[in-house]
Amino acid sequence: MCGLSDMQETSEVKLTNMEKEMRRLIRDPKLLPPEKQTLLSIIADLAAAMNMSCFIVGGFVRDLLLGKPVNDLDIIVEGDAIKLGEALIQKHGGQLTPHTKFRTAIWHLPSTFTRSVQPSSLDLITARSESYLNPGALPTVKPSTIEDDLRRRDFTINAMAVRMDGDHFGELLDPLNGLADLEKGLIRVLHPRSFIDDPTRIFRAIRYEQRYFFTLEPSTFNLVNLESLAVITRLSGERIRHELDLIFGEEHSFQMIQRAGSLGLFDRIHPDLPLFNPDYSDFLDMDPMLDIPADRIAVGYMLWLMDLSEESIQSISNRLDFTADLEDLISAVARLKKSLPFLVNSKPSEWTYAIEKLPLLSIYVMYLISRETALLDYLSIWRHVRPRITGDDLKSRGLSPGPRFGEILTQLRSAWLDGQVKNAQEEKELLNTLL
Ligand code: ATP
Repeated sequence: MCGLSDMQETSEVKLTNMEKEMRRLIRDPKLLPPEKQTLLSIIADLAAAMNMSCFIVGGFVRDLLLGKPVNDLDIIVEGDAIKLGEALIQKHGGQLTPHTKFRTAIWHLPSTFTRSVQPSSLDLITARSESYLNPGALPTVKPSTIEDDLRRRDFTINAMAVRMDGDHFGELLDPLNGLADLEKGLIRVLHPRSFIDDPTRIFRAIRYEQRYFFTLEPSTFNLVNLESLAVITRLSGERIRHELDLIFGEEHSFQMIQRAGSLGLFDRIHPDLPLFNPDYSDFLDMDPMLDIPADRIAVGYMLWLMDLSEESIQSISNRLDFTADLEDLISAVARLKKSLPFLVNSKPSEWTYAIEKLPLLSIYVMYLISRETALLDYLSIWRHVRPRITGDDLKSRGLSPGPRFGEILTQLRSAWLDGQVKNAQEEKELLNTLL
């Protein structure tokens, strides 16, 4: 039996050029790290031993054929993915979370793999077919063949599979001519009702179009029409937000979000959603700064929505089911932008007290778009400034804790911030005048 791990092809197996090419791509360590190759090979070997056909599908095949590194392993078996998962944990360890309804399982990898493979779990899926009872609703599914499984997918370029088990290793299944579309750079749906069944595919089409500089095939483009756009209105906030999150996680998010706006998607989501201000587009690729964690997705929403009124931000947040943290970040940056003109000539202490309750990321984003140096000074220096004299020192000077305590410490801090005291001696002298 041949397999992913065998470096020599067996002489009995006659391989087509395409199969040879697929084998070469899958074994290329620049495209698929060796640890993931090993993982794939043990799954494929066990599937073969259990007489199950095992495939790798979707974005993995697409990106491999484009010569791009692949990450997600989307594994489909014809047979029973739960049984395969049980055999895998018996032989290699780890844990299994089975979902009996869809015959899928999550294999939580054993520690031998988790040291080198991320993520630390893997979905094992039983091939299935899908039908949509209502536009925009989630589909009903039932176990089926790999061909049916490919037919439930979004675009031809995502509807290819490579078989992994035994001598079949490297066979490309392409019943919908995805390879031809990939070569032409075309995004094509599988059937005319595709966007009506699931209009999140319109967002996905935009992502692939802008990510790979592809084109929406003309009849697919025409399916982004009043009928399919109307179904977006019915989608849950969570599903739409998930698509927008994916967009803001991408390198060309500005082009993607503008494209979504120009195709009329925003009007169907919320009437107040604006186009993305092109002046802010450079800041989508914010570098992490100081100890402020970079959060591409949150920054994307902040830049997009910060010029709206408080009411619009709130209303969009409700529609898109934002987390409280995300809504806070957007509102904070919007408020800061409005108050900036009033703060411009303030002293460092005034800046500090005005903004120190705001989330750091909102201050950083405001700095990026305004280049107001006080904001940078706050982030790098002022927010860390504390008086050297402490509450204990005040007690030892005979002051009992109370509101006056806080006032004195604040005055001392302001003096440090505004440069009125520069060393411990000057601070002590100031304290003497305050007591
Ligand atoms: P990406 O690089 O954007 O992650 P991907 O192809 O890996 O691309 P996933 O969202 O991980 O995308 O989905 C995996 C596969 O599942 C897709 O390639 C596609 O075949 C299928 N798929 C995902 N979402 C849909 C959908 N809404 N409708 C139909 N098929 C879908």
